[in-house]
Amino acid sequence: MSFTLAIVGRPNVGKSTLFNRLVGRRLALVDDQPGVTRDLREGEAKLQGLPFTVIDTAGLEEATDESLQGRMRALTERAVGMADVCLFLVDGRTGILPADEVFADILRRKSARVILGVNKAEGHAGESGFLEAYSLGLGDPVRMSAEHGEGMSDLYDMLVPIAEEFEERALRDTPETDVILTDEDFEEDGDSLGGSREFTFEKPLQIAVVGRPNAGKSTLINKLLGEERLLTGPEAGITRDSISVTMDWNDTPVRVFDTAGMRKKAKVQEKLEKLSVSDGLRAVKFAEVVVVLLDVSIPFEQQDLRIADLAEREGRAVVIAVNKWDEEGDKSNKAKLLREEFARLLPQLKGAQLVTVSAKTGKNLDKLQEAILKAHEIWNRRVPTARLNSWLKAMTEAHPPPAPGGRRIRLRYMTQAKTRPPGFVVMCSYADKLNDSYKRYLINGLRIDFDMPGTPIRLWFRDQA
Ligand code: GDP
Ligand code: GDP
Repeated sequence: MSFTLAIVGRPNVGKSTLFNRLVGRRLALVDDQPGVTRDLREGEAKLQGLPFTVIDTAGLEEATDESLQGRMRALTERAVGMADVCLFLVDGRTGILPADEVFADILRRKSARVILGVNKAEGHAGESGFLEAYSLGLGDPVRMSAEHGEGMSDLYDMLVPIAEEFEERALRDTPETDVILTDEDFEEDGDSLGGSREFTFEKPLQIAVVGRPNAGKSTLINKLLGEERLLTGPEAGITRDSISVTMDWNDTPVRVFDTAGMRKKAKVQEKLEKLSVSDGLRAVKFAEVVVVLLDVSIPFEQQDLRIADLAEREGRAVVIAVNKWDEEGDKSNKAKLLREEFARLLPQLKGAQLVTVSAKTGKNLDKLQEAILKAHEIWNRRVPTARLNSWLKAMTEAHPPPAPGGRRIRLRYMTQAKTRPPGFVVMCSYADKLNDSYKRYLINGLRIDFDMPGTPIRLWFRDQA
């Protein structure tokens, strides 16, 4: 369970610089189409080992029209609504400007929890801005330099209590005693979905298509887009670090990251393989659903397996797509073989959907879209606490946990601590003694009984004597 931090502030104060530092990804994601406003960016950050999600509101710098302020305000309000805590950045060198006051107002009005950061304060710079920042009435400012990495441990110190509070909240949601099941329990829990911070309603579903060179990634993305784009041309991606395209699938906005476009800029042949892997890694970190695109003539290569495994470890929903199906002669036999191979090579992704497609002809791309939406839905699924507990009871009765050294491990109750992917906390005695096979038994049970195939499932055990 981690919290979400939004970086807000007027243009040019260093939001993107800080975002990139926290996410550890030097590349900005840029929308490919002119006229498309770069929207909120989101990334998984780590600060001295502390994981959290960070949202960056930078993206309106280039806008010069009248509506800039309004749009910036709307974007900021949205980010504030999505976040647990806001890092309000000001520029220590320019000092506090009227535009900064506008942001301070938004934050105050939304009663957001705010950390005030005075950026560009490396060395002794930004001293006056630092003092001025007190006038915003948002508490003690933190001096920092996004560019030089200064002030990061101060920021860390301020985030730790928030992280702890979050963890406590996750545990507090756990019922104190065995629950008695009522219809009301079901309804209340089910409703809590709406209150959780799942903002997919406005944010496009993030998809990455990964796979070895020549698997057909560009062809697939072009086809999904329904139009030929220049991605496969010789100039493609030369100036872009990463390309994403936003589109609609029946009313669901999706954003596809095109790693192939990045790879195309590699001129040196031997660098190709390596670059392609690191592109894939980056895309996986950012995506919600990862489509691992295989070439039917060479499926499940080492590189494919590695990236699929990485996607699982990163907690992404995974769909396997086997491409160039038009070239396959013995289709029914091959499909069966592929499924067997998949189950054997990637047991950690048990149940993930495998779709055979032809990017070239467009065959089965509708099935692929469906599979992606379904995987995303499962990845977001929340199971009511009451149902989890009656399930846990049945599971432990059917197959009691081991009793190492004669002491029976008791699994007392559990709750779903997070979604995306689903994560559960089980309160138990002797948590550290529980063996992996019992954990697997529970995870497989969750997968089957709550219909969550192909999504990573996290299970944590907390000691409670
Ligand atoms: P944003 O518009 O708020 O996202 O700001 P950017 O991250 O794009 O940064 C705006 C400018 O400030 C860029 O030229 C950065 O290199 C520079 N910048 C960002 N952080 C620092 C910093 O800590 N110190 C200094 N001196 N410059 C910085
Ligand atoms: P990328 O490197 O993964 O982006 O792959 P490309 O999209 O550039 O495709 C590599 C080659 O495979 C090209 O010659 C494509 O025409 C071909 N290709 C892609 N998809 C298909 C497909 O579904 N069927 C067939 N027969 N060829 C395909």
